[in-house]
Amino acid sequence: MSATQLKAPVLEPAPGRARPAPVQAPDGEPQHPLAHLSAEQLEQLGRELDALHAEVFAELGEGDARYIRGVIRAHRQLALAGRILLLIGSRRRSTWLLGTTALSLAKVLENMEIGHNVMHGQWDWMNDPHINSRSWDWDTASPAEAWRHSHNYEHHTFTNIRGKDRDLGYEIMRVDPHQRWHPVYLLQPLYNVLLMGFFEWGVALHDLNFDAIRSGEKPKAQALAELKAIGVKARRQIVKDYTAFPALSGRGWRQTLAANFIANIVRNVWAHSIIFCGHFPDQTYTFAEAEVADETRGGWYARQMLGAANIEGGELFHLLSGNLSFQIEHHLFPDMPSNRYAQVAPRVREICSRYELPYNTGPLRKQLGSVHRTILRLAFPGGRTRPKPGPYRSAQG
Ligand SMILES: [Zn+2]
Repeated sequence: MSATQLKAPVLEPAPGRARPAPVQAPDGEPQHPLAHLSAEQLEQLGRELDALHAEVFAELGEGDARYIRGVIRAHRQLALAGRILLLIGSRRRSTWLLGTTALSLAKVLENMEIGHNVMHGQWDWMNDPHINSRSWDWDTASPAEAWRHSHNYEHHTFTNIRGKDRDLGYEIMRVDPHQRWHPVYLLQPLYNVLLMGFFEWGVALHDLNFDAIRSGEKPKAQALAELKAIGVKARRQIVKDYTAFPALSGRGWRQTLAANFIANIVRNVWAHSIIFCGHFPDQTYTFAEAEVADETRGGWYARQMLGAANIEGGELFHLLSGNLSFQIEHHLFPDMPSNRYAQVAPRVREICSRYELPYNTGPLRKQLGSVHRTILRLAFPGGRTRPKPGPYRSAQG
């Protein structure tokens, strides 16, 4: 049954503070899932989610600190094992394979569960001199400061608002039928494959925000300083993975260089896949600026829930995805330590069920399949908004 066939119960808007009327959806568009919620219901939704956030933060303590320290230790051991295996045996096939696998896993862990989350400020409450958003830098081409601005501020504030959230297609892809088509998009299936492999470089350039530089919104001096920071970071990355460690391998330098290159590609493809599944499966909603003009706290929460999608999987999968498989929970509570998302997920799902809001989730192959189908279809003109899952209902409902 398609979403257009599902009828959300129509509730009378409660008296009191009026909520701006939802922008009229063009014909054939799925009914907006917020259409049935009154201003009071949205406010109540905001209060419930605030309370859930407060409840978890009141519980944070030694166990959580142990968790992140353990993950950082595991990363260091994996990275060290990978580097040593390649140093001593990169010319032997089995050692090379083991070393490359360990290094790839280490890079995945470092970017996803450690880098992204520490730089969000999820562990700032520990007051640790190293594990905090101000001093952490990660093993990727993006300088920490530029990334924190484009991700923590821009993407997490303007999530899925067309024209404001630059992560919606990363400015180079059409991932929503509302985005006007241009012939350059015909090439997007091709450059998407390139972006997968070299995602860290794409993200570093994306942080620069070429539109803002062109329009003068970002002063030239700032753009130059940021470009310089990327240059410094890029040089460090290239020297480390493509000069220093290969040189240490002596006669096996070629094999070590290949291993480091592959580990970076593996990490990039993985990060691209997990991140694209977070917002581009075609069930997620995008918003016009007019729809969010007078957004309340509850409305902000609802937009985060409707604009994100989860991926189902086991504990190891969640760890390697940096718990971004709980993208909905991450967008509701970006400052919450990632080890807590699995715990709050059933509560968030129950809230969605009560407010009859969609809770988009599915296995990796389903979410990823729908991302790549969208990228292929929208390379061409037209394309309709895909039918959305109707307001979430529990199995009993
Ligand atoms: Zn984030």
